[in-house]
Amino acid sequence: MSIEDLRGRQRQTLEKAGHSTLWLKLTEEMSMQQDHFHQLQALHGKYCHGSVATLPDGWTEIVGQFLAAVDDLGDLADAVSLRFERCPDGARAFAFPEMSRWHPHQMHSLRIAQRELLHASRETCERCGTGNSIPVTVGEHGFFLCEEHTAEVQVKLDALTEAMDDRAQFREQVSDILPPTTALLLPMNDYNTRIMRKALMDIKAIVDTQGLTGHVMATKVIESDGQLFMNVRCGPQVDPATQFEIADIVKHAEWESDQAHLKSGKKSGDDA
Ligand SMILES: [Zn+2]
Repeated sequence: MSIEDLRGRQRQTLEKAGHSTLWLKLTEEMSMQQDHFHQLQALHGKYCHGSVATLPDGWTEIVGQFLAAVDDLGDLADAVSLRFERCPDGARAFAFPEMSRWHPHQMHSLRIAQRELLHASRETCERCGTGNSIPVTVGEHGFFLCEEHTAEVQVKLDALTEAMDDRAQFREQVSDILPPTTALLLPMNDYNTRIMRKALMDIKAIVDTQGLTGHVMATKVIESDGQLFMNVRCGPQVDPATQFEIADIVKHAEWESDQAHLKSGKKSGDDA
């Protein structure tokens, strides 16, 4: 496999992870507000199962309409139970009834209500409840969103692509001091990316000024447990003072990463 293929694959993996994180975050942001769930429960307590709360907030109204339709069916015998799920194709309500005890009209009406909920959900913005929504893909998942909220997600998707382009561009910039397969796209968290980039650019500047291309190689540039580790090898053409200077840049970068790591740990500890 060529280096380009390897990088392409790593980019794909990174993009997939980025999309998955974005999808989770958006799902969380769009989840039903507790107030709305309690309102539905107060109005349609009998059939408003807890799984309603897992649906997006924008679907509150259409779920309310579905529950009202089920209420209107009359007494479905005490055994009926509904579960709700946000499926890839929309909101689905599953009924677990003892059908034999139902009137065929009730069965038919329930089926219609289920179908209407599914169709309505596909056209209703999950964030704001506006109609005329369209499916929006985020990695392997997706949402049904209005024009405004589609644009909002698109900005975030574009930012991910830009970040990946930026990563590839930086890798290209310092390719003189990295063996072709090392680190590929240098995936790291924010503070290590910043520290690592500065260190590699500083080393590259020294290499460029002193004409040492090919004699200085960063053989290891990794992040492990939130900490940056670097290893730079200098050939015999590099004089001791320059070697010392480069070693100092590496040492300082690792120290900075260590400090940032401690700080981030302390911050999340404080939050808890
Ligand atoms: Zn919307």
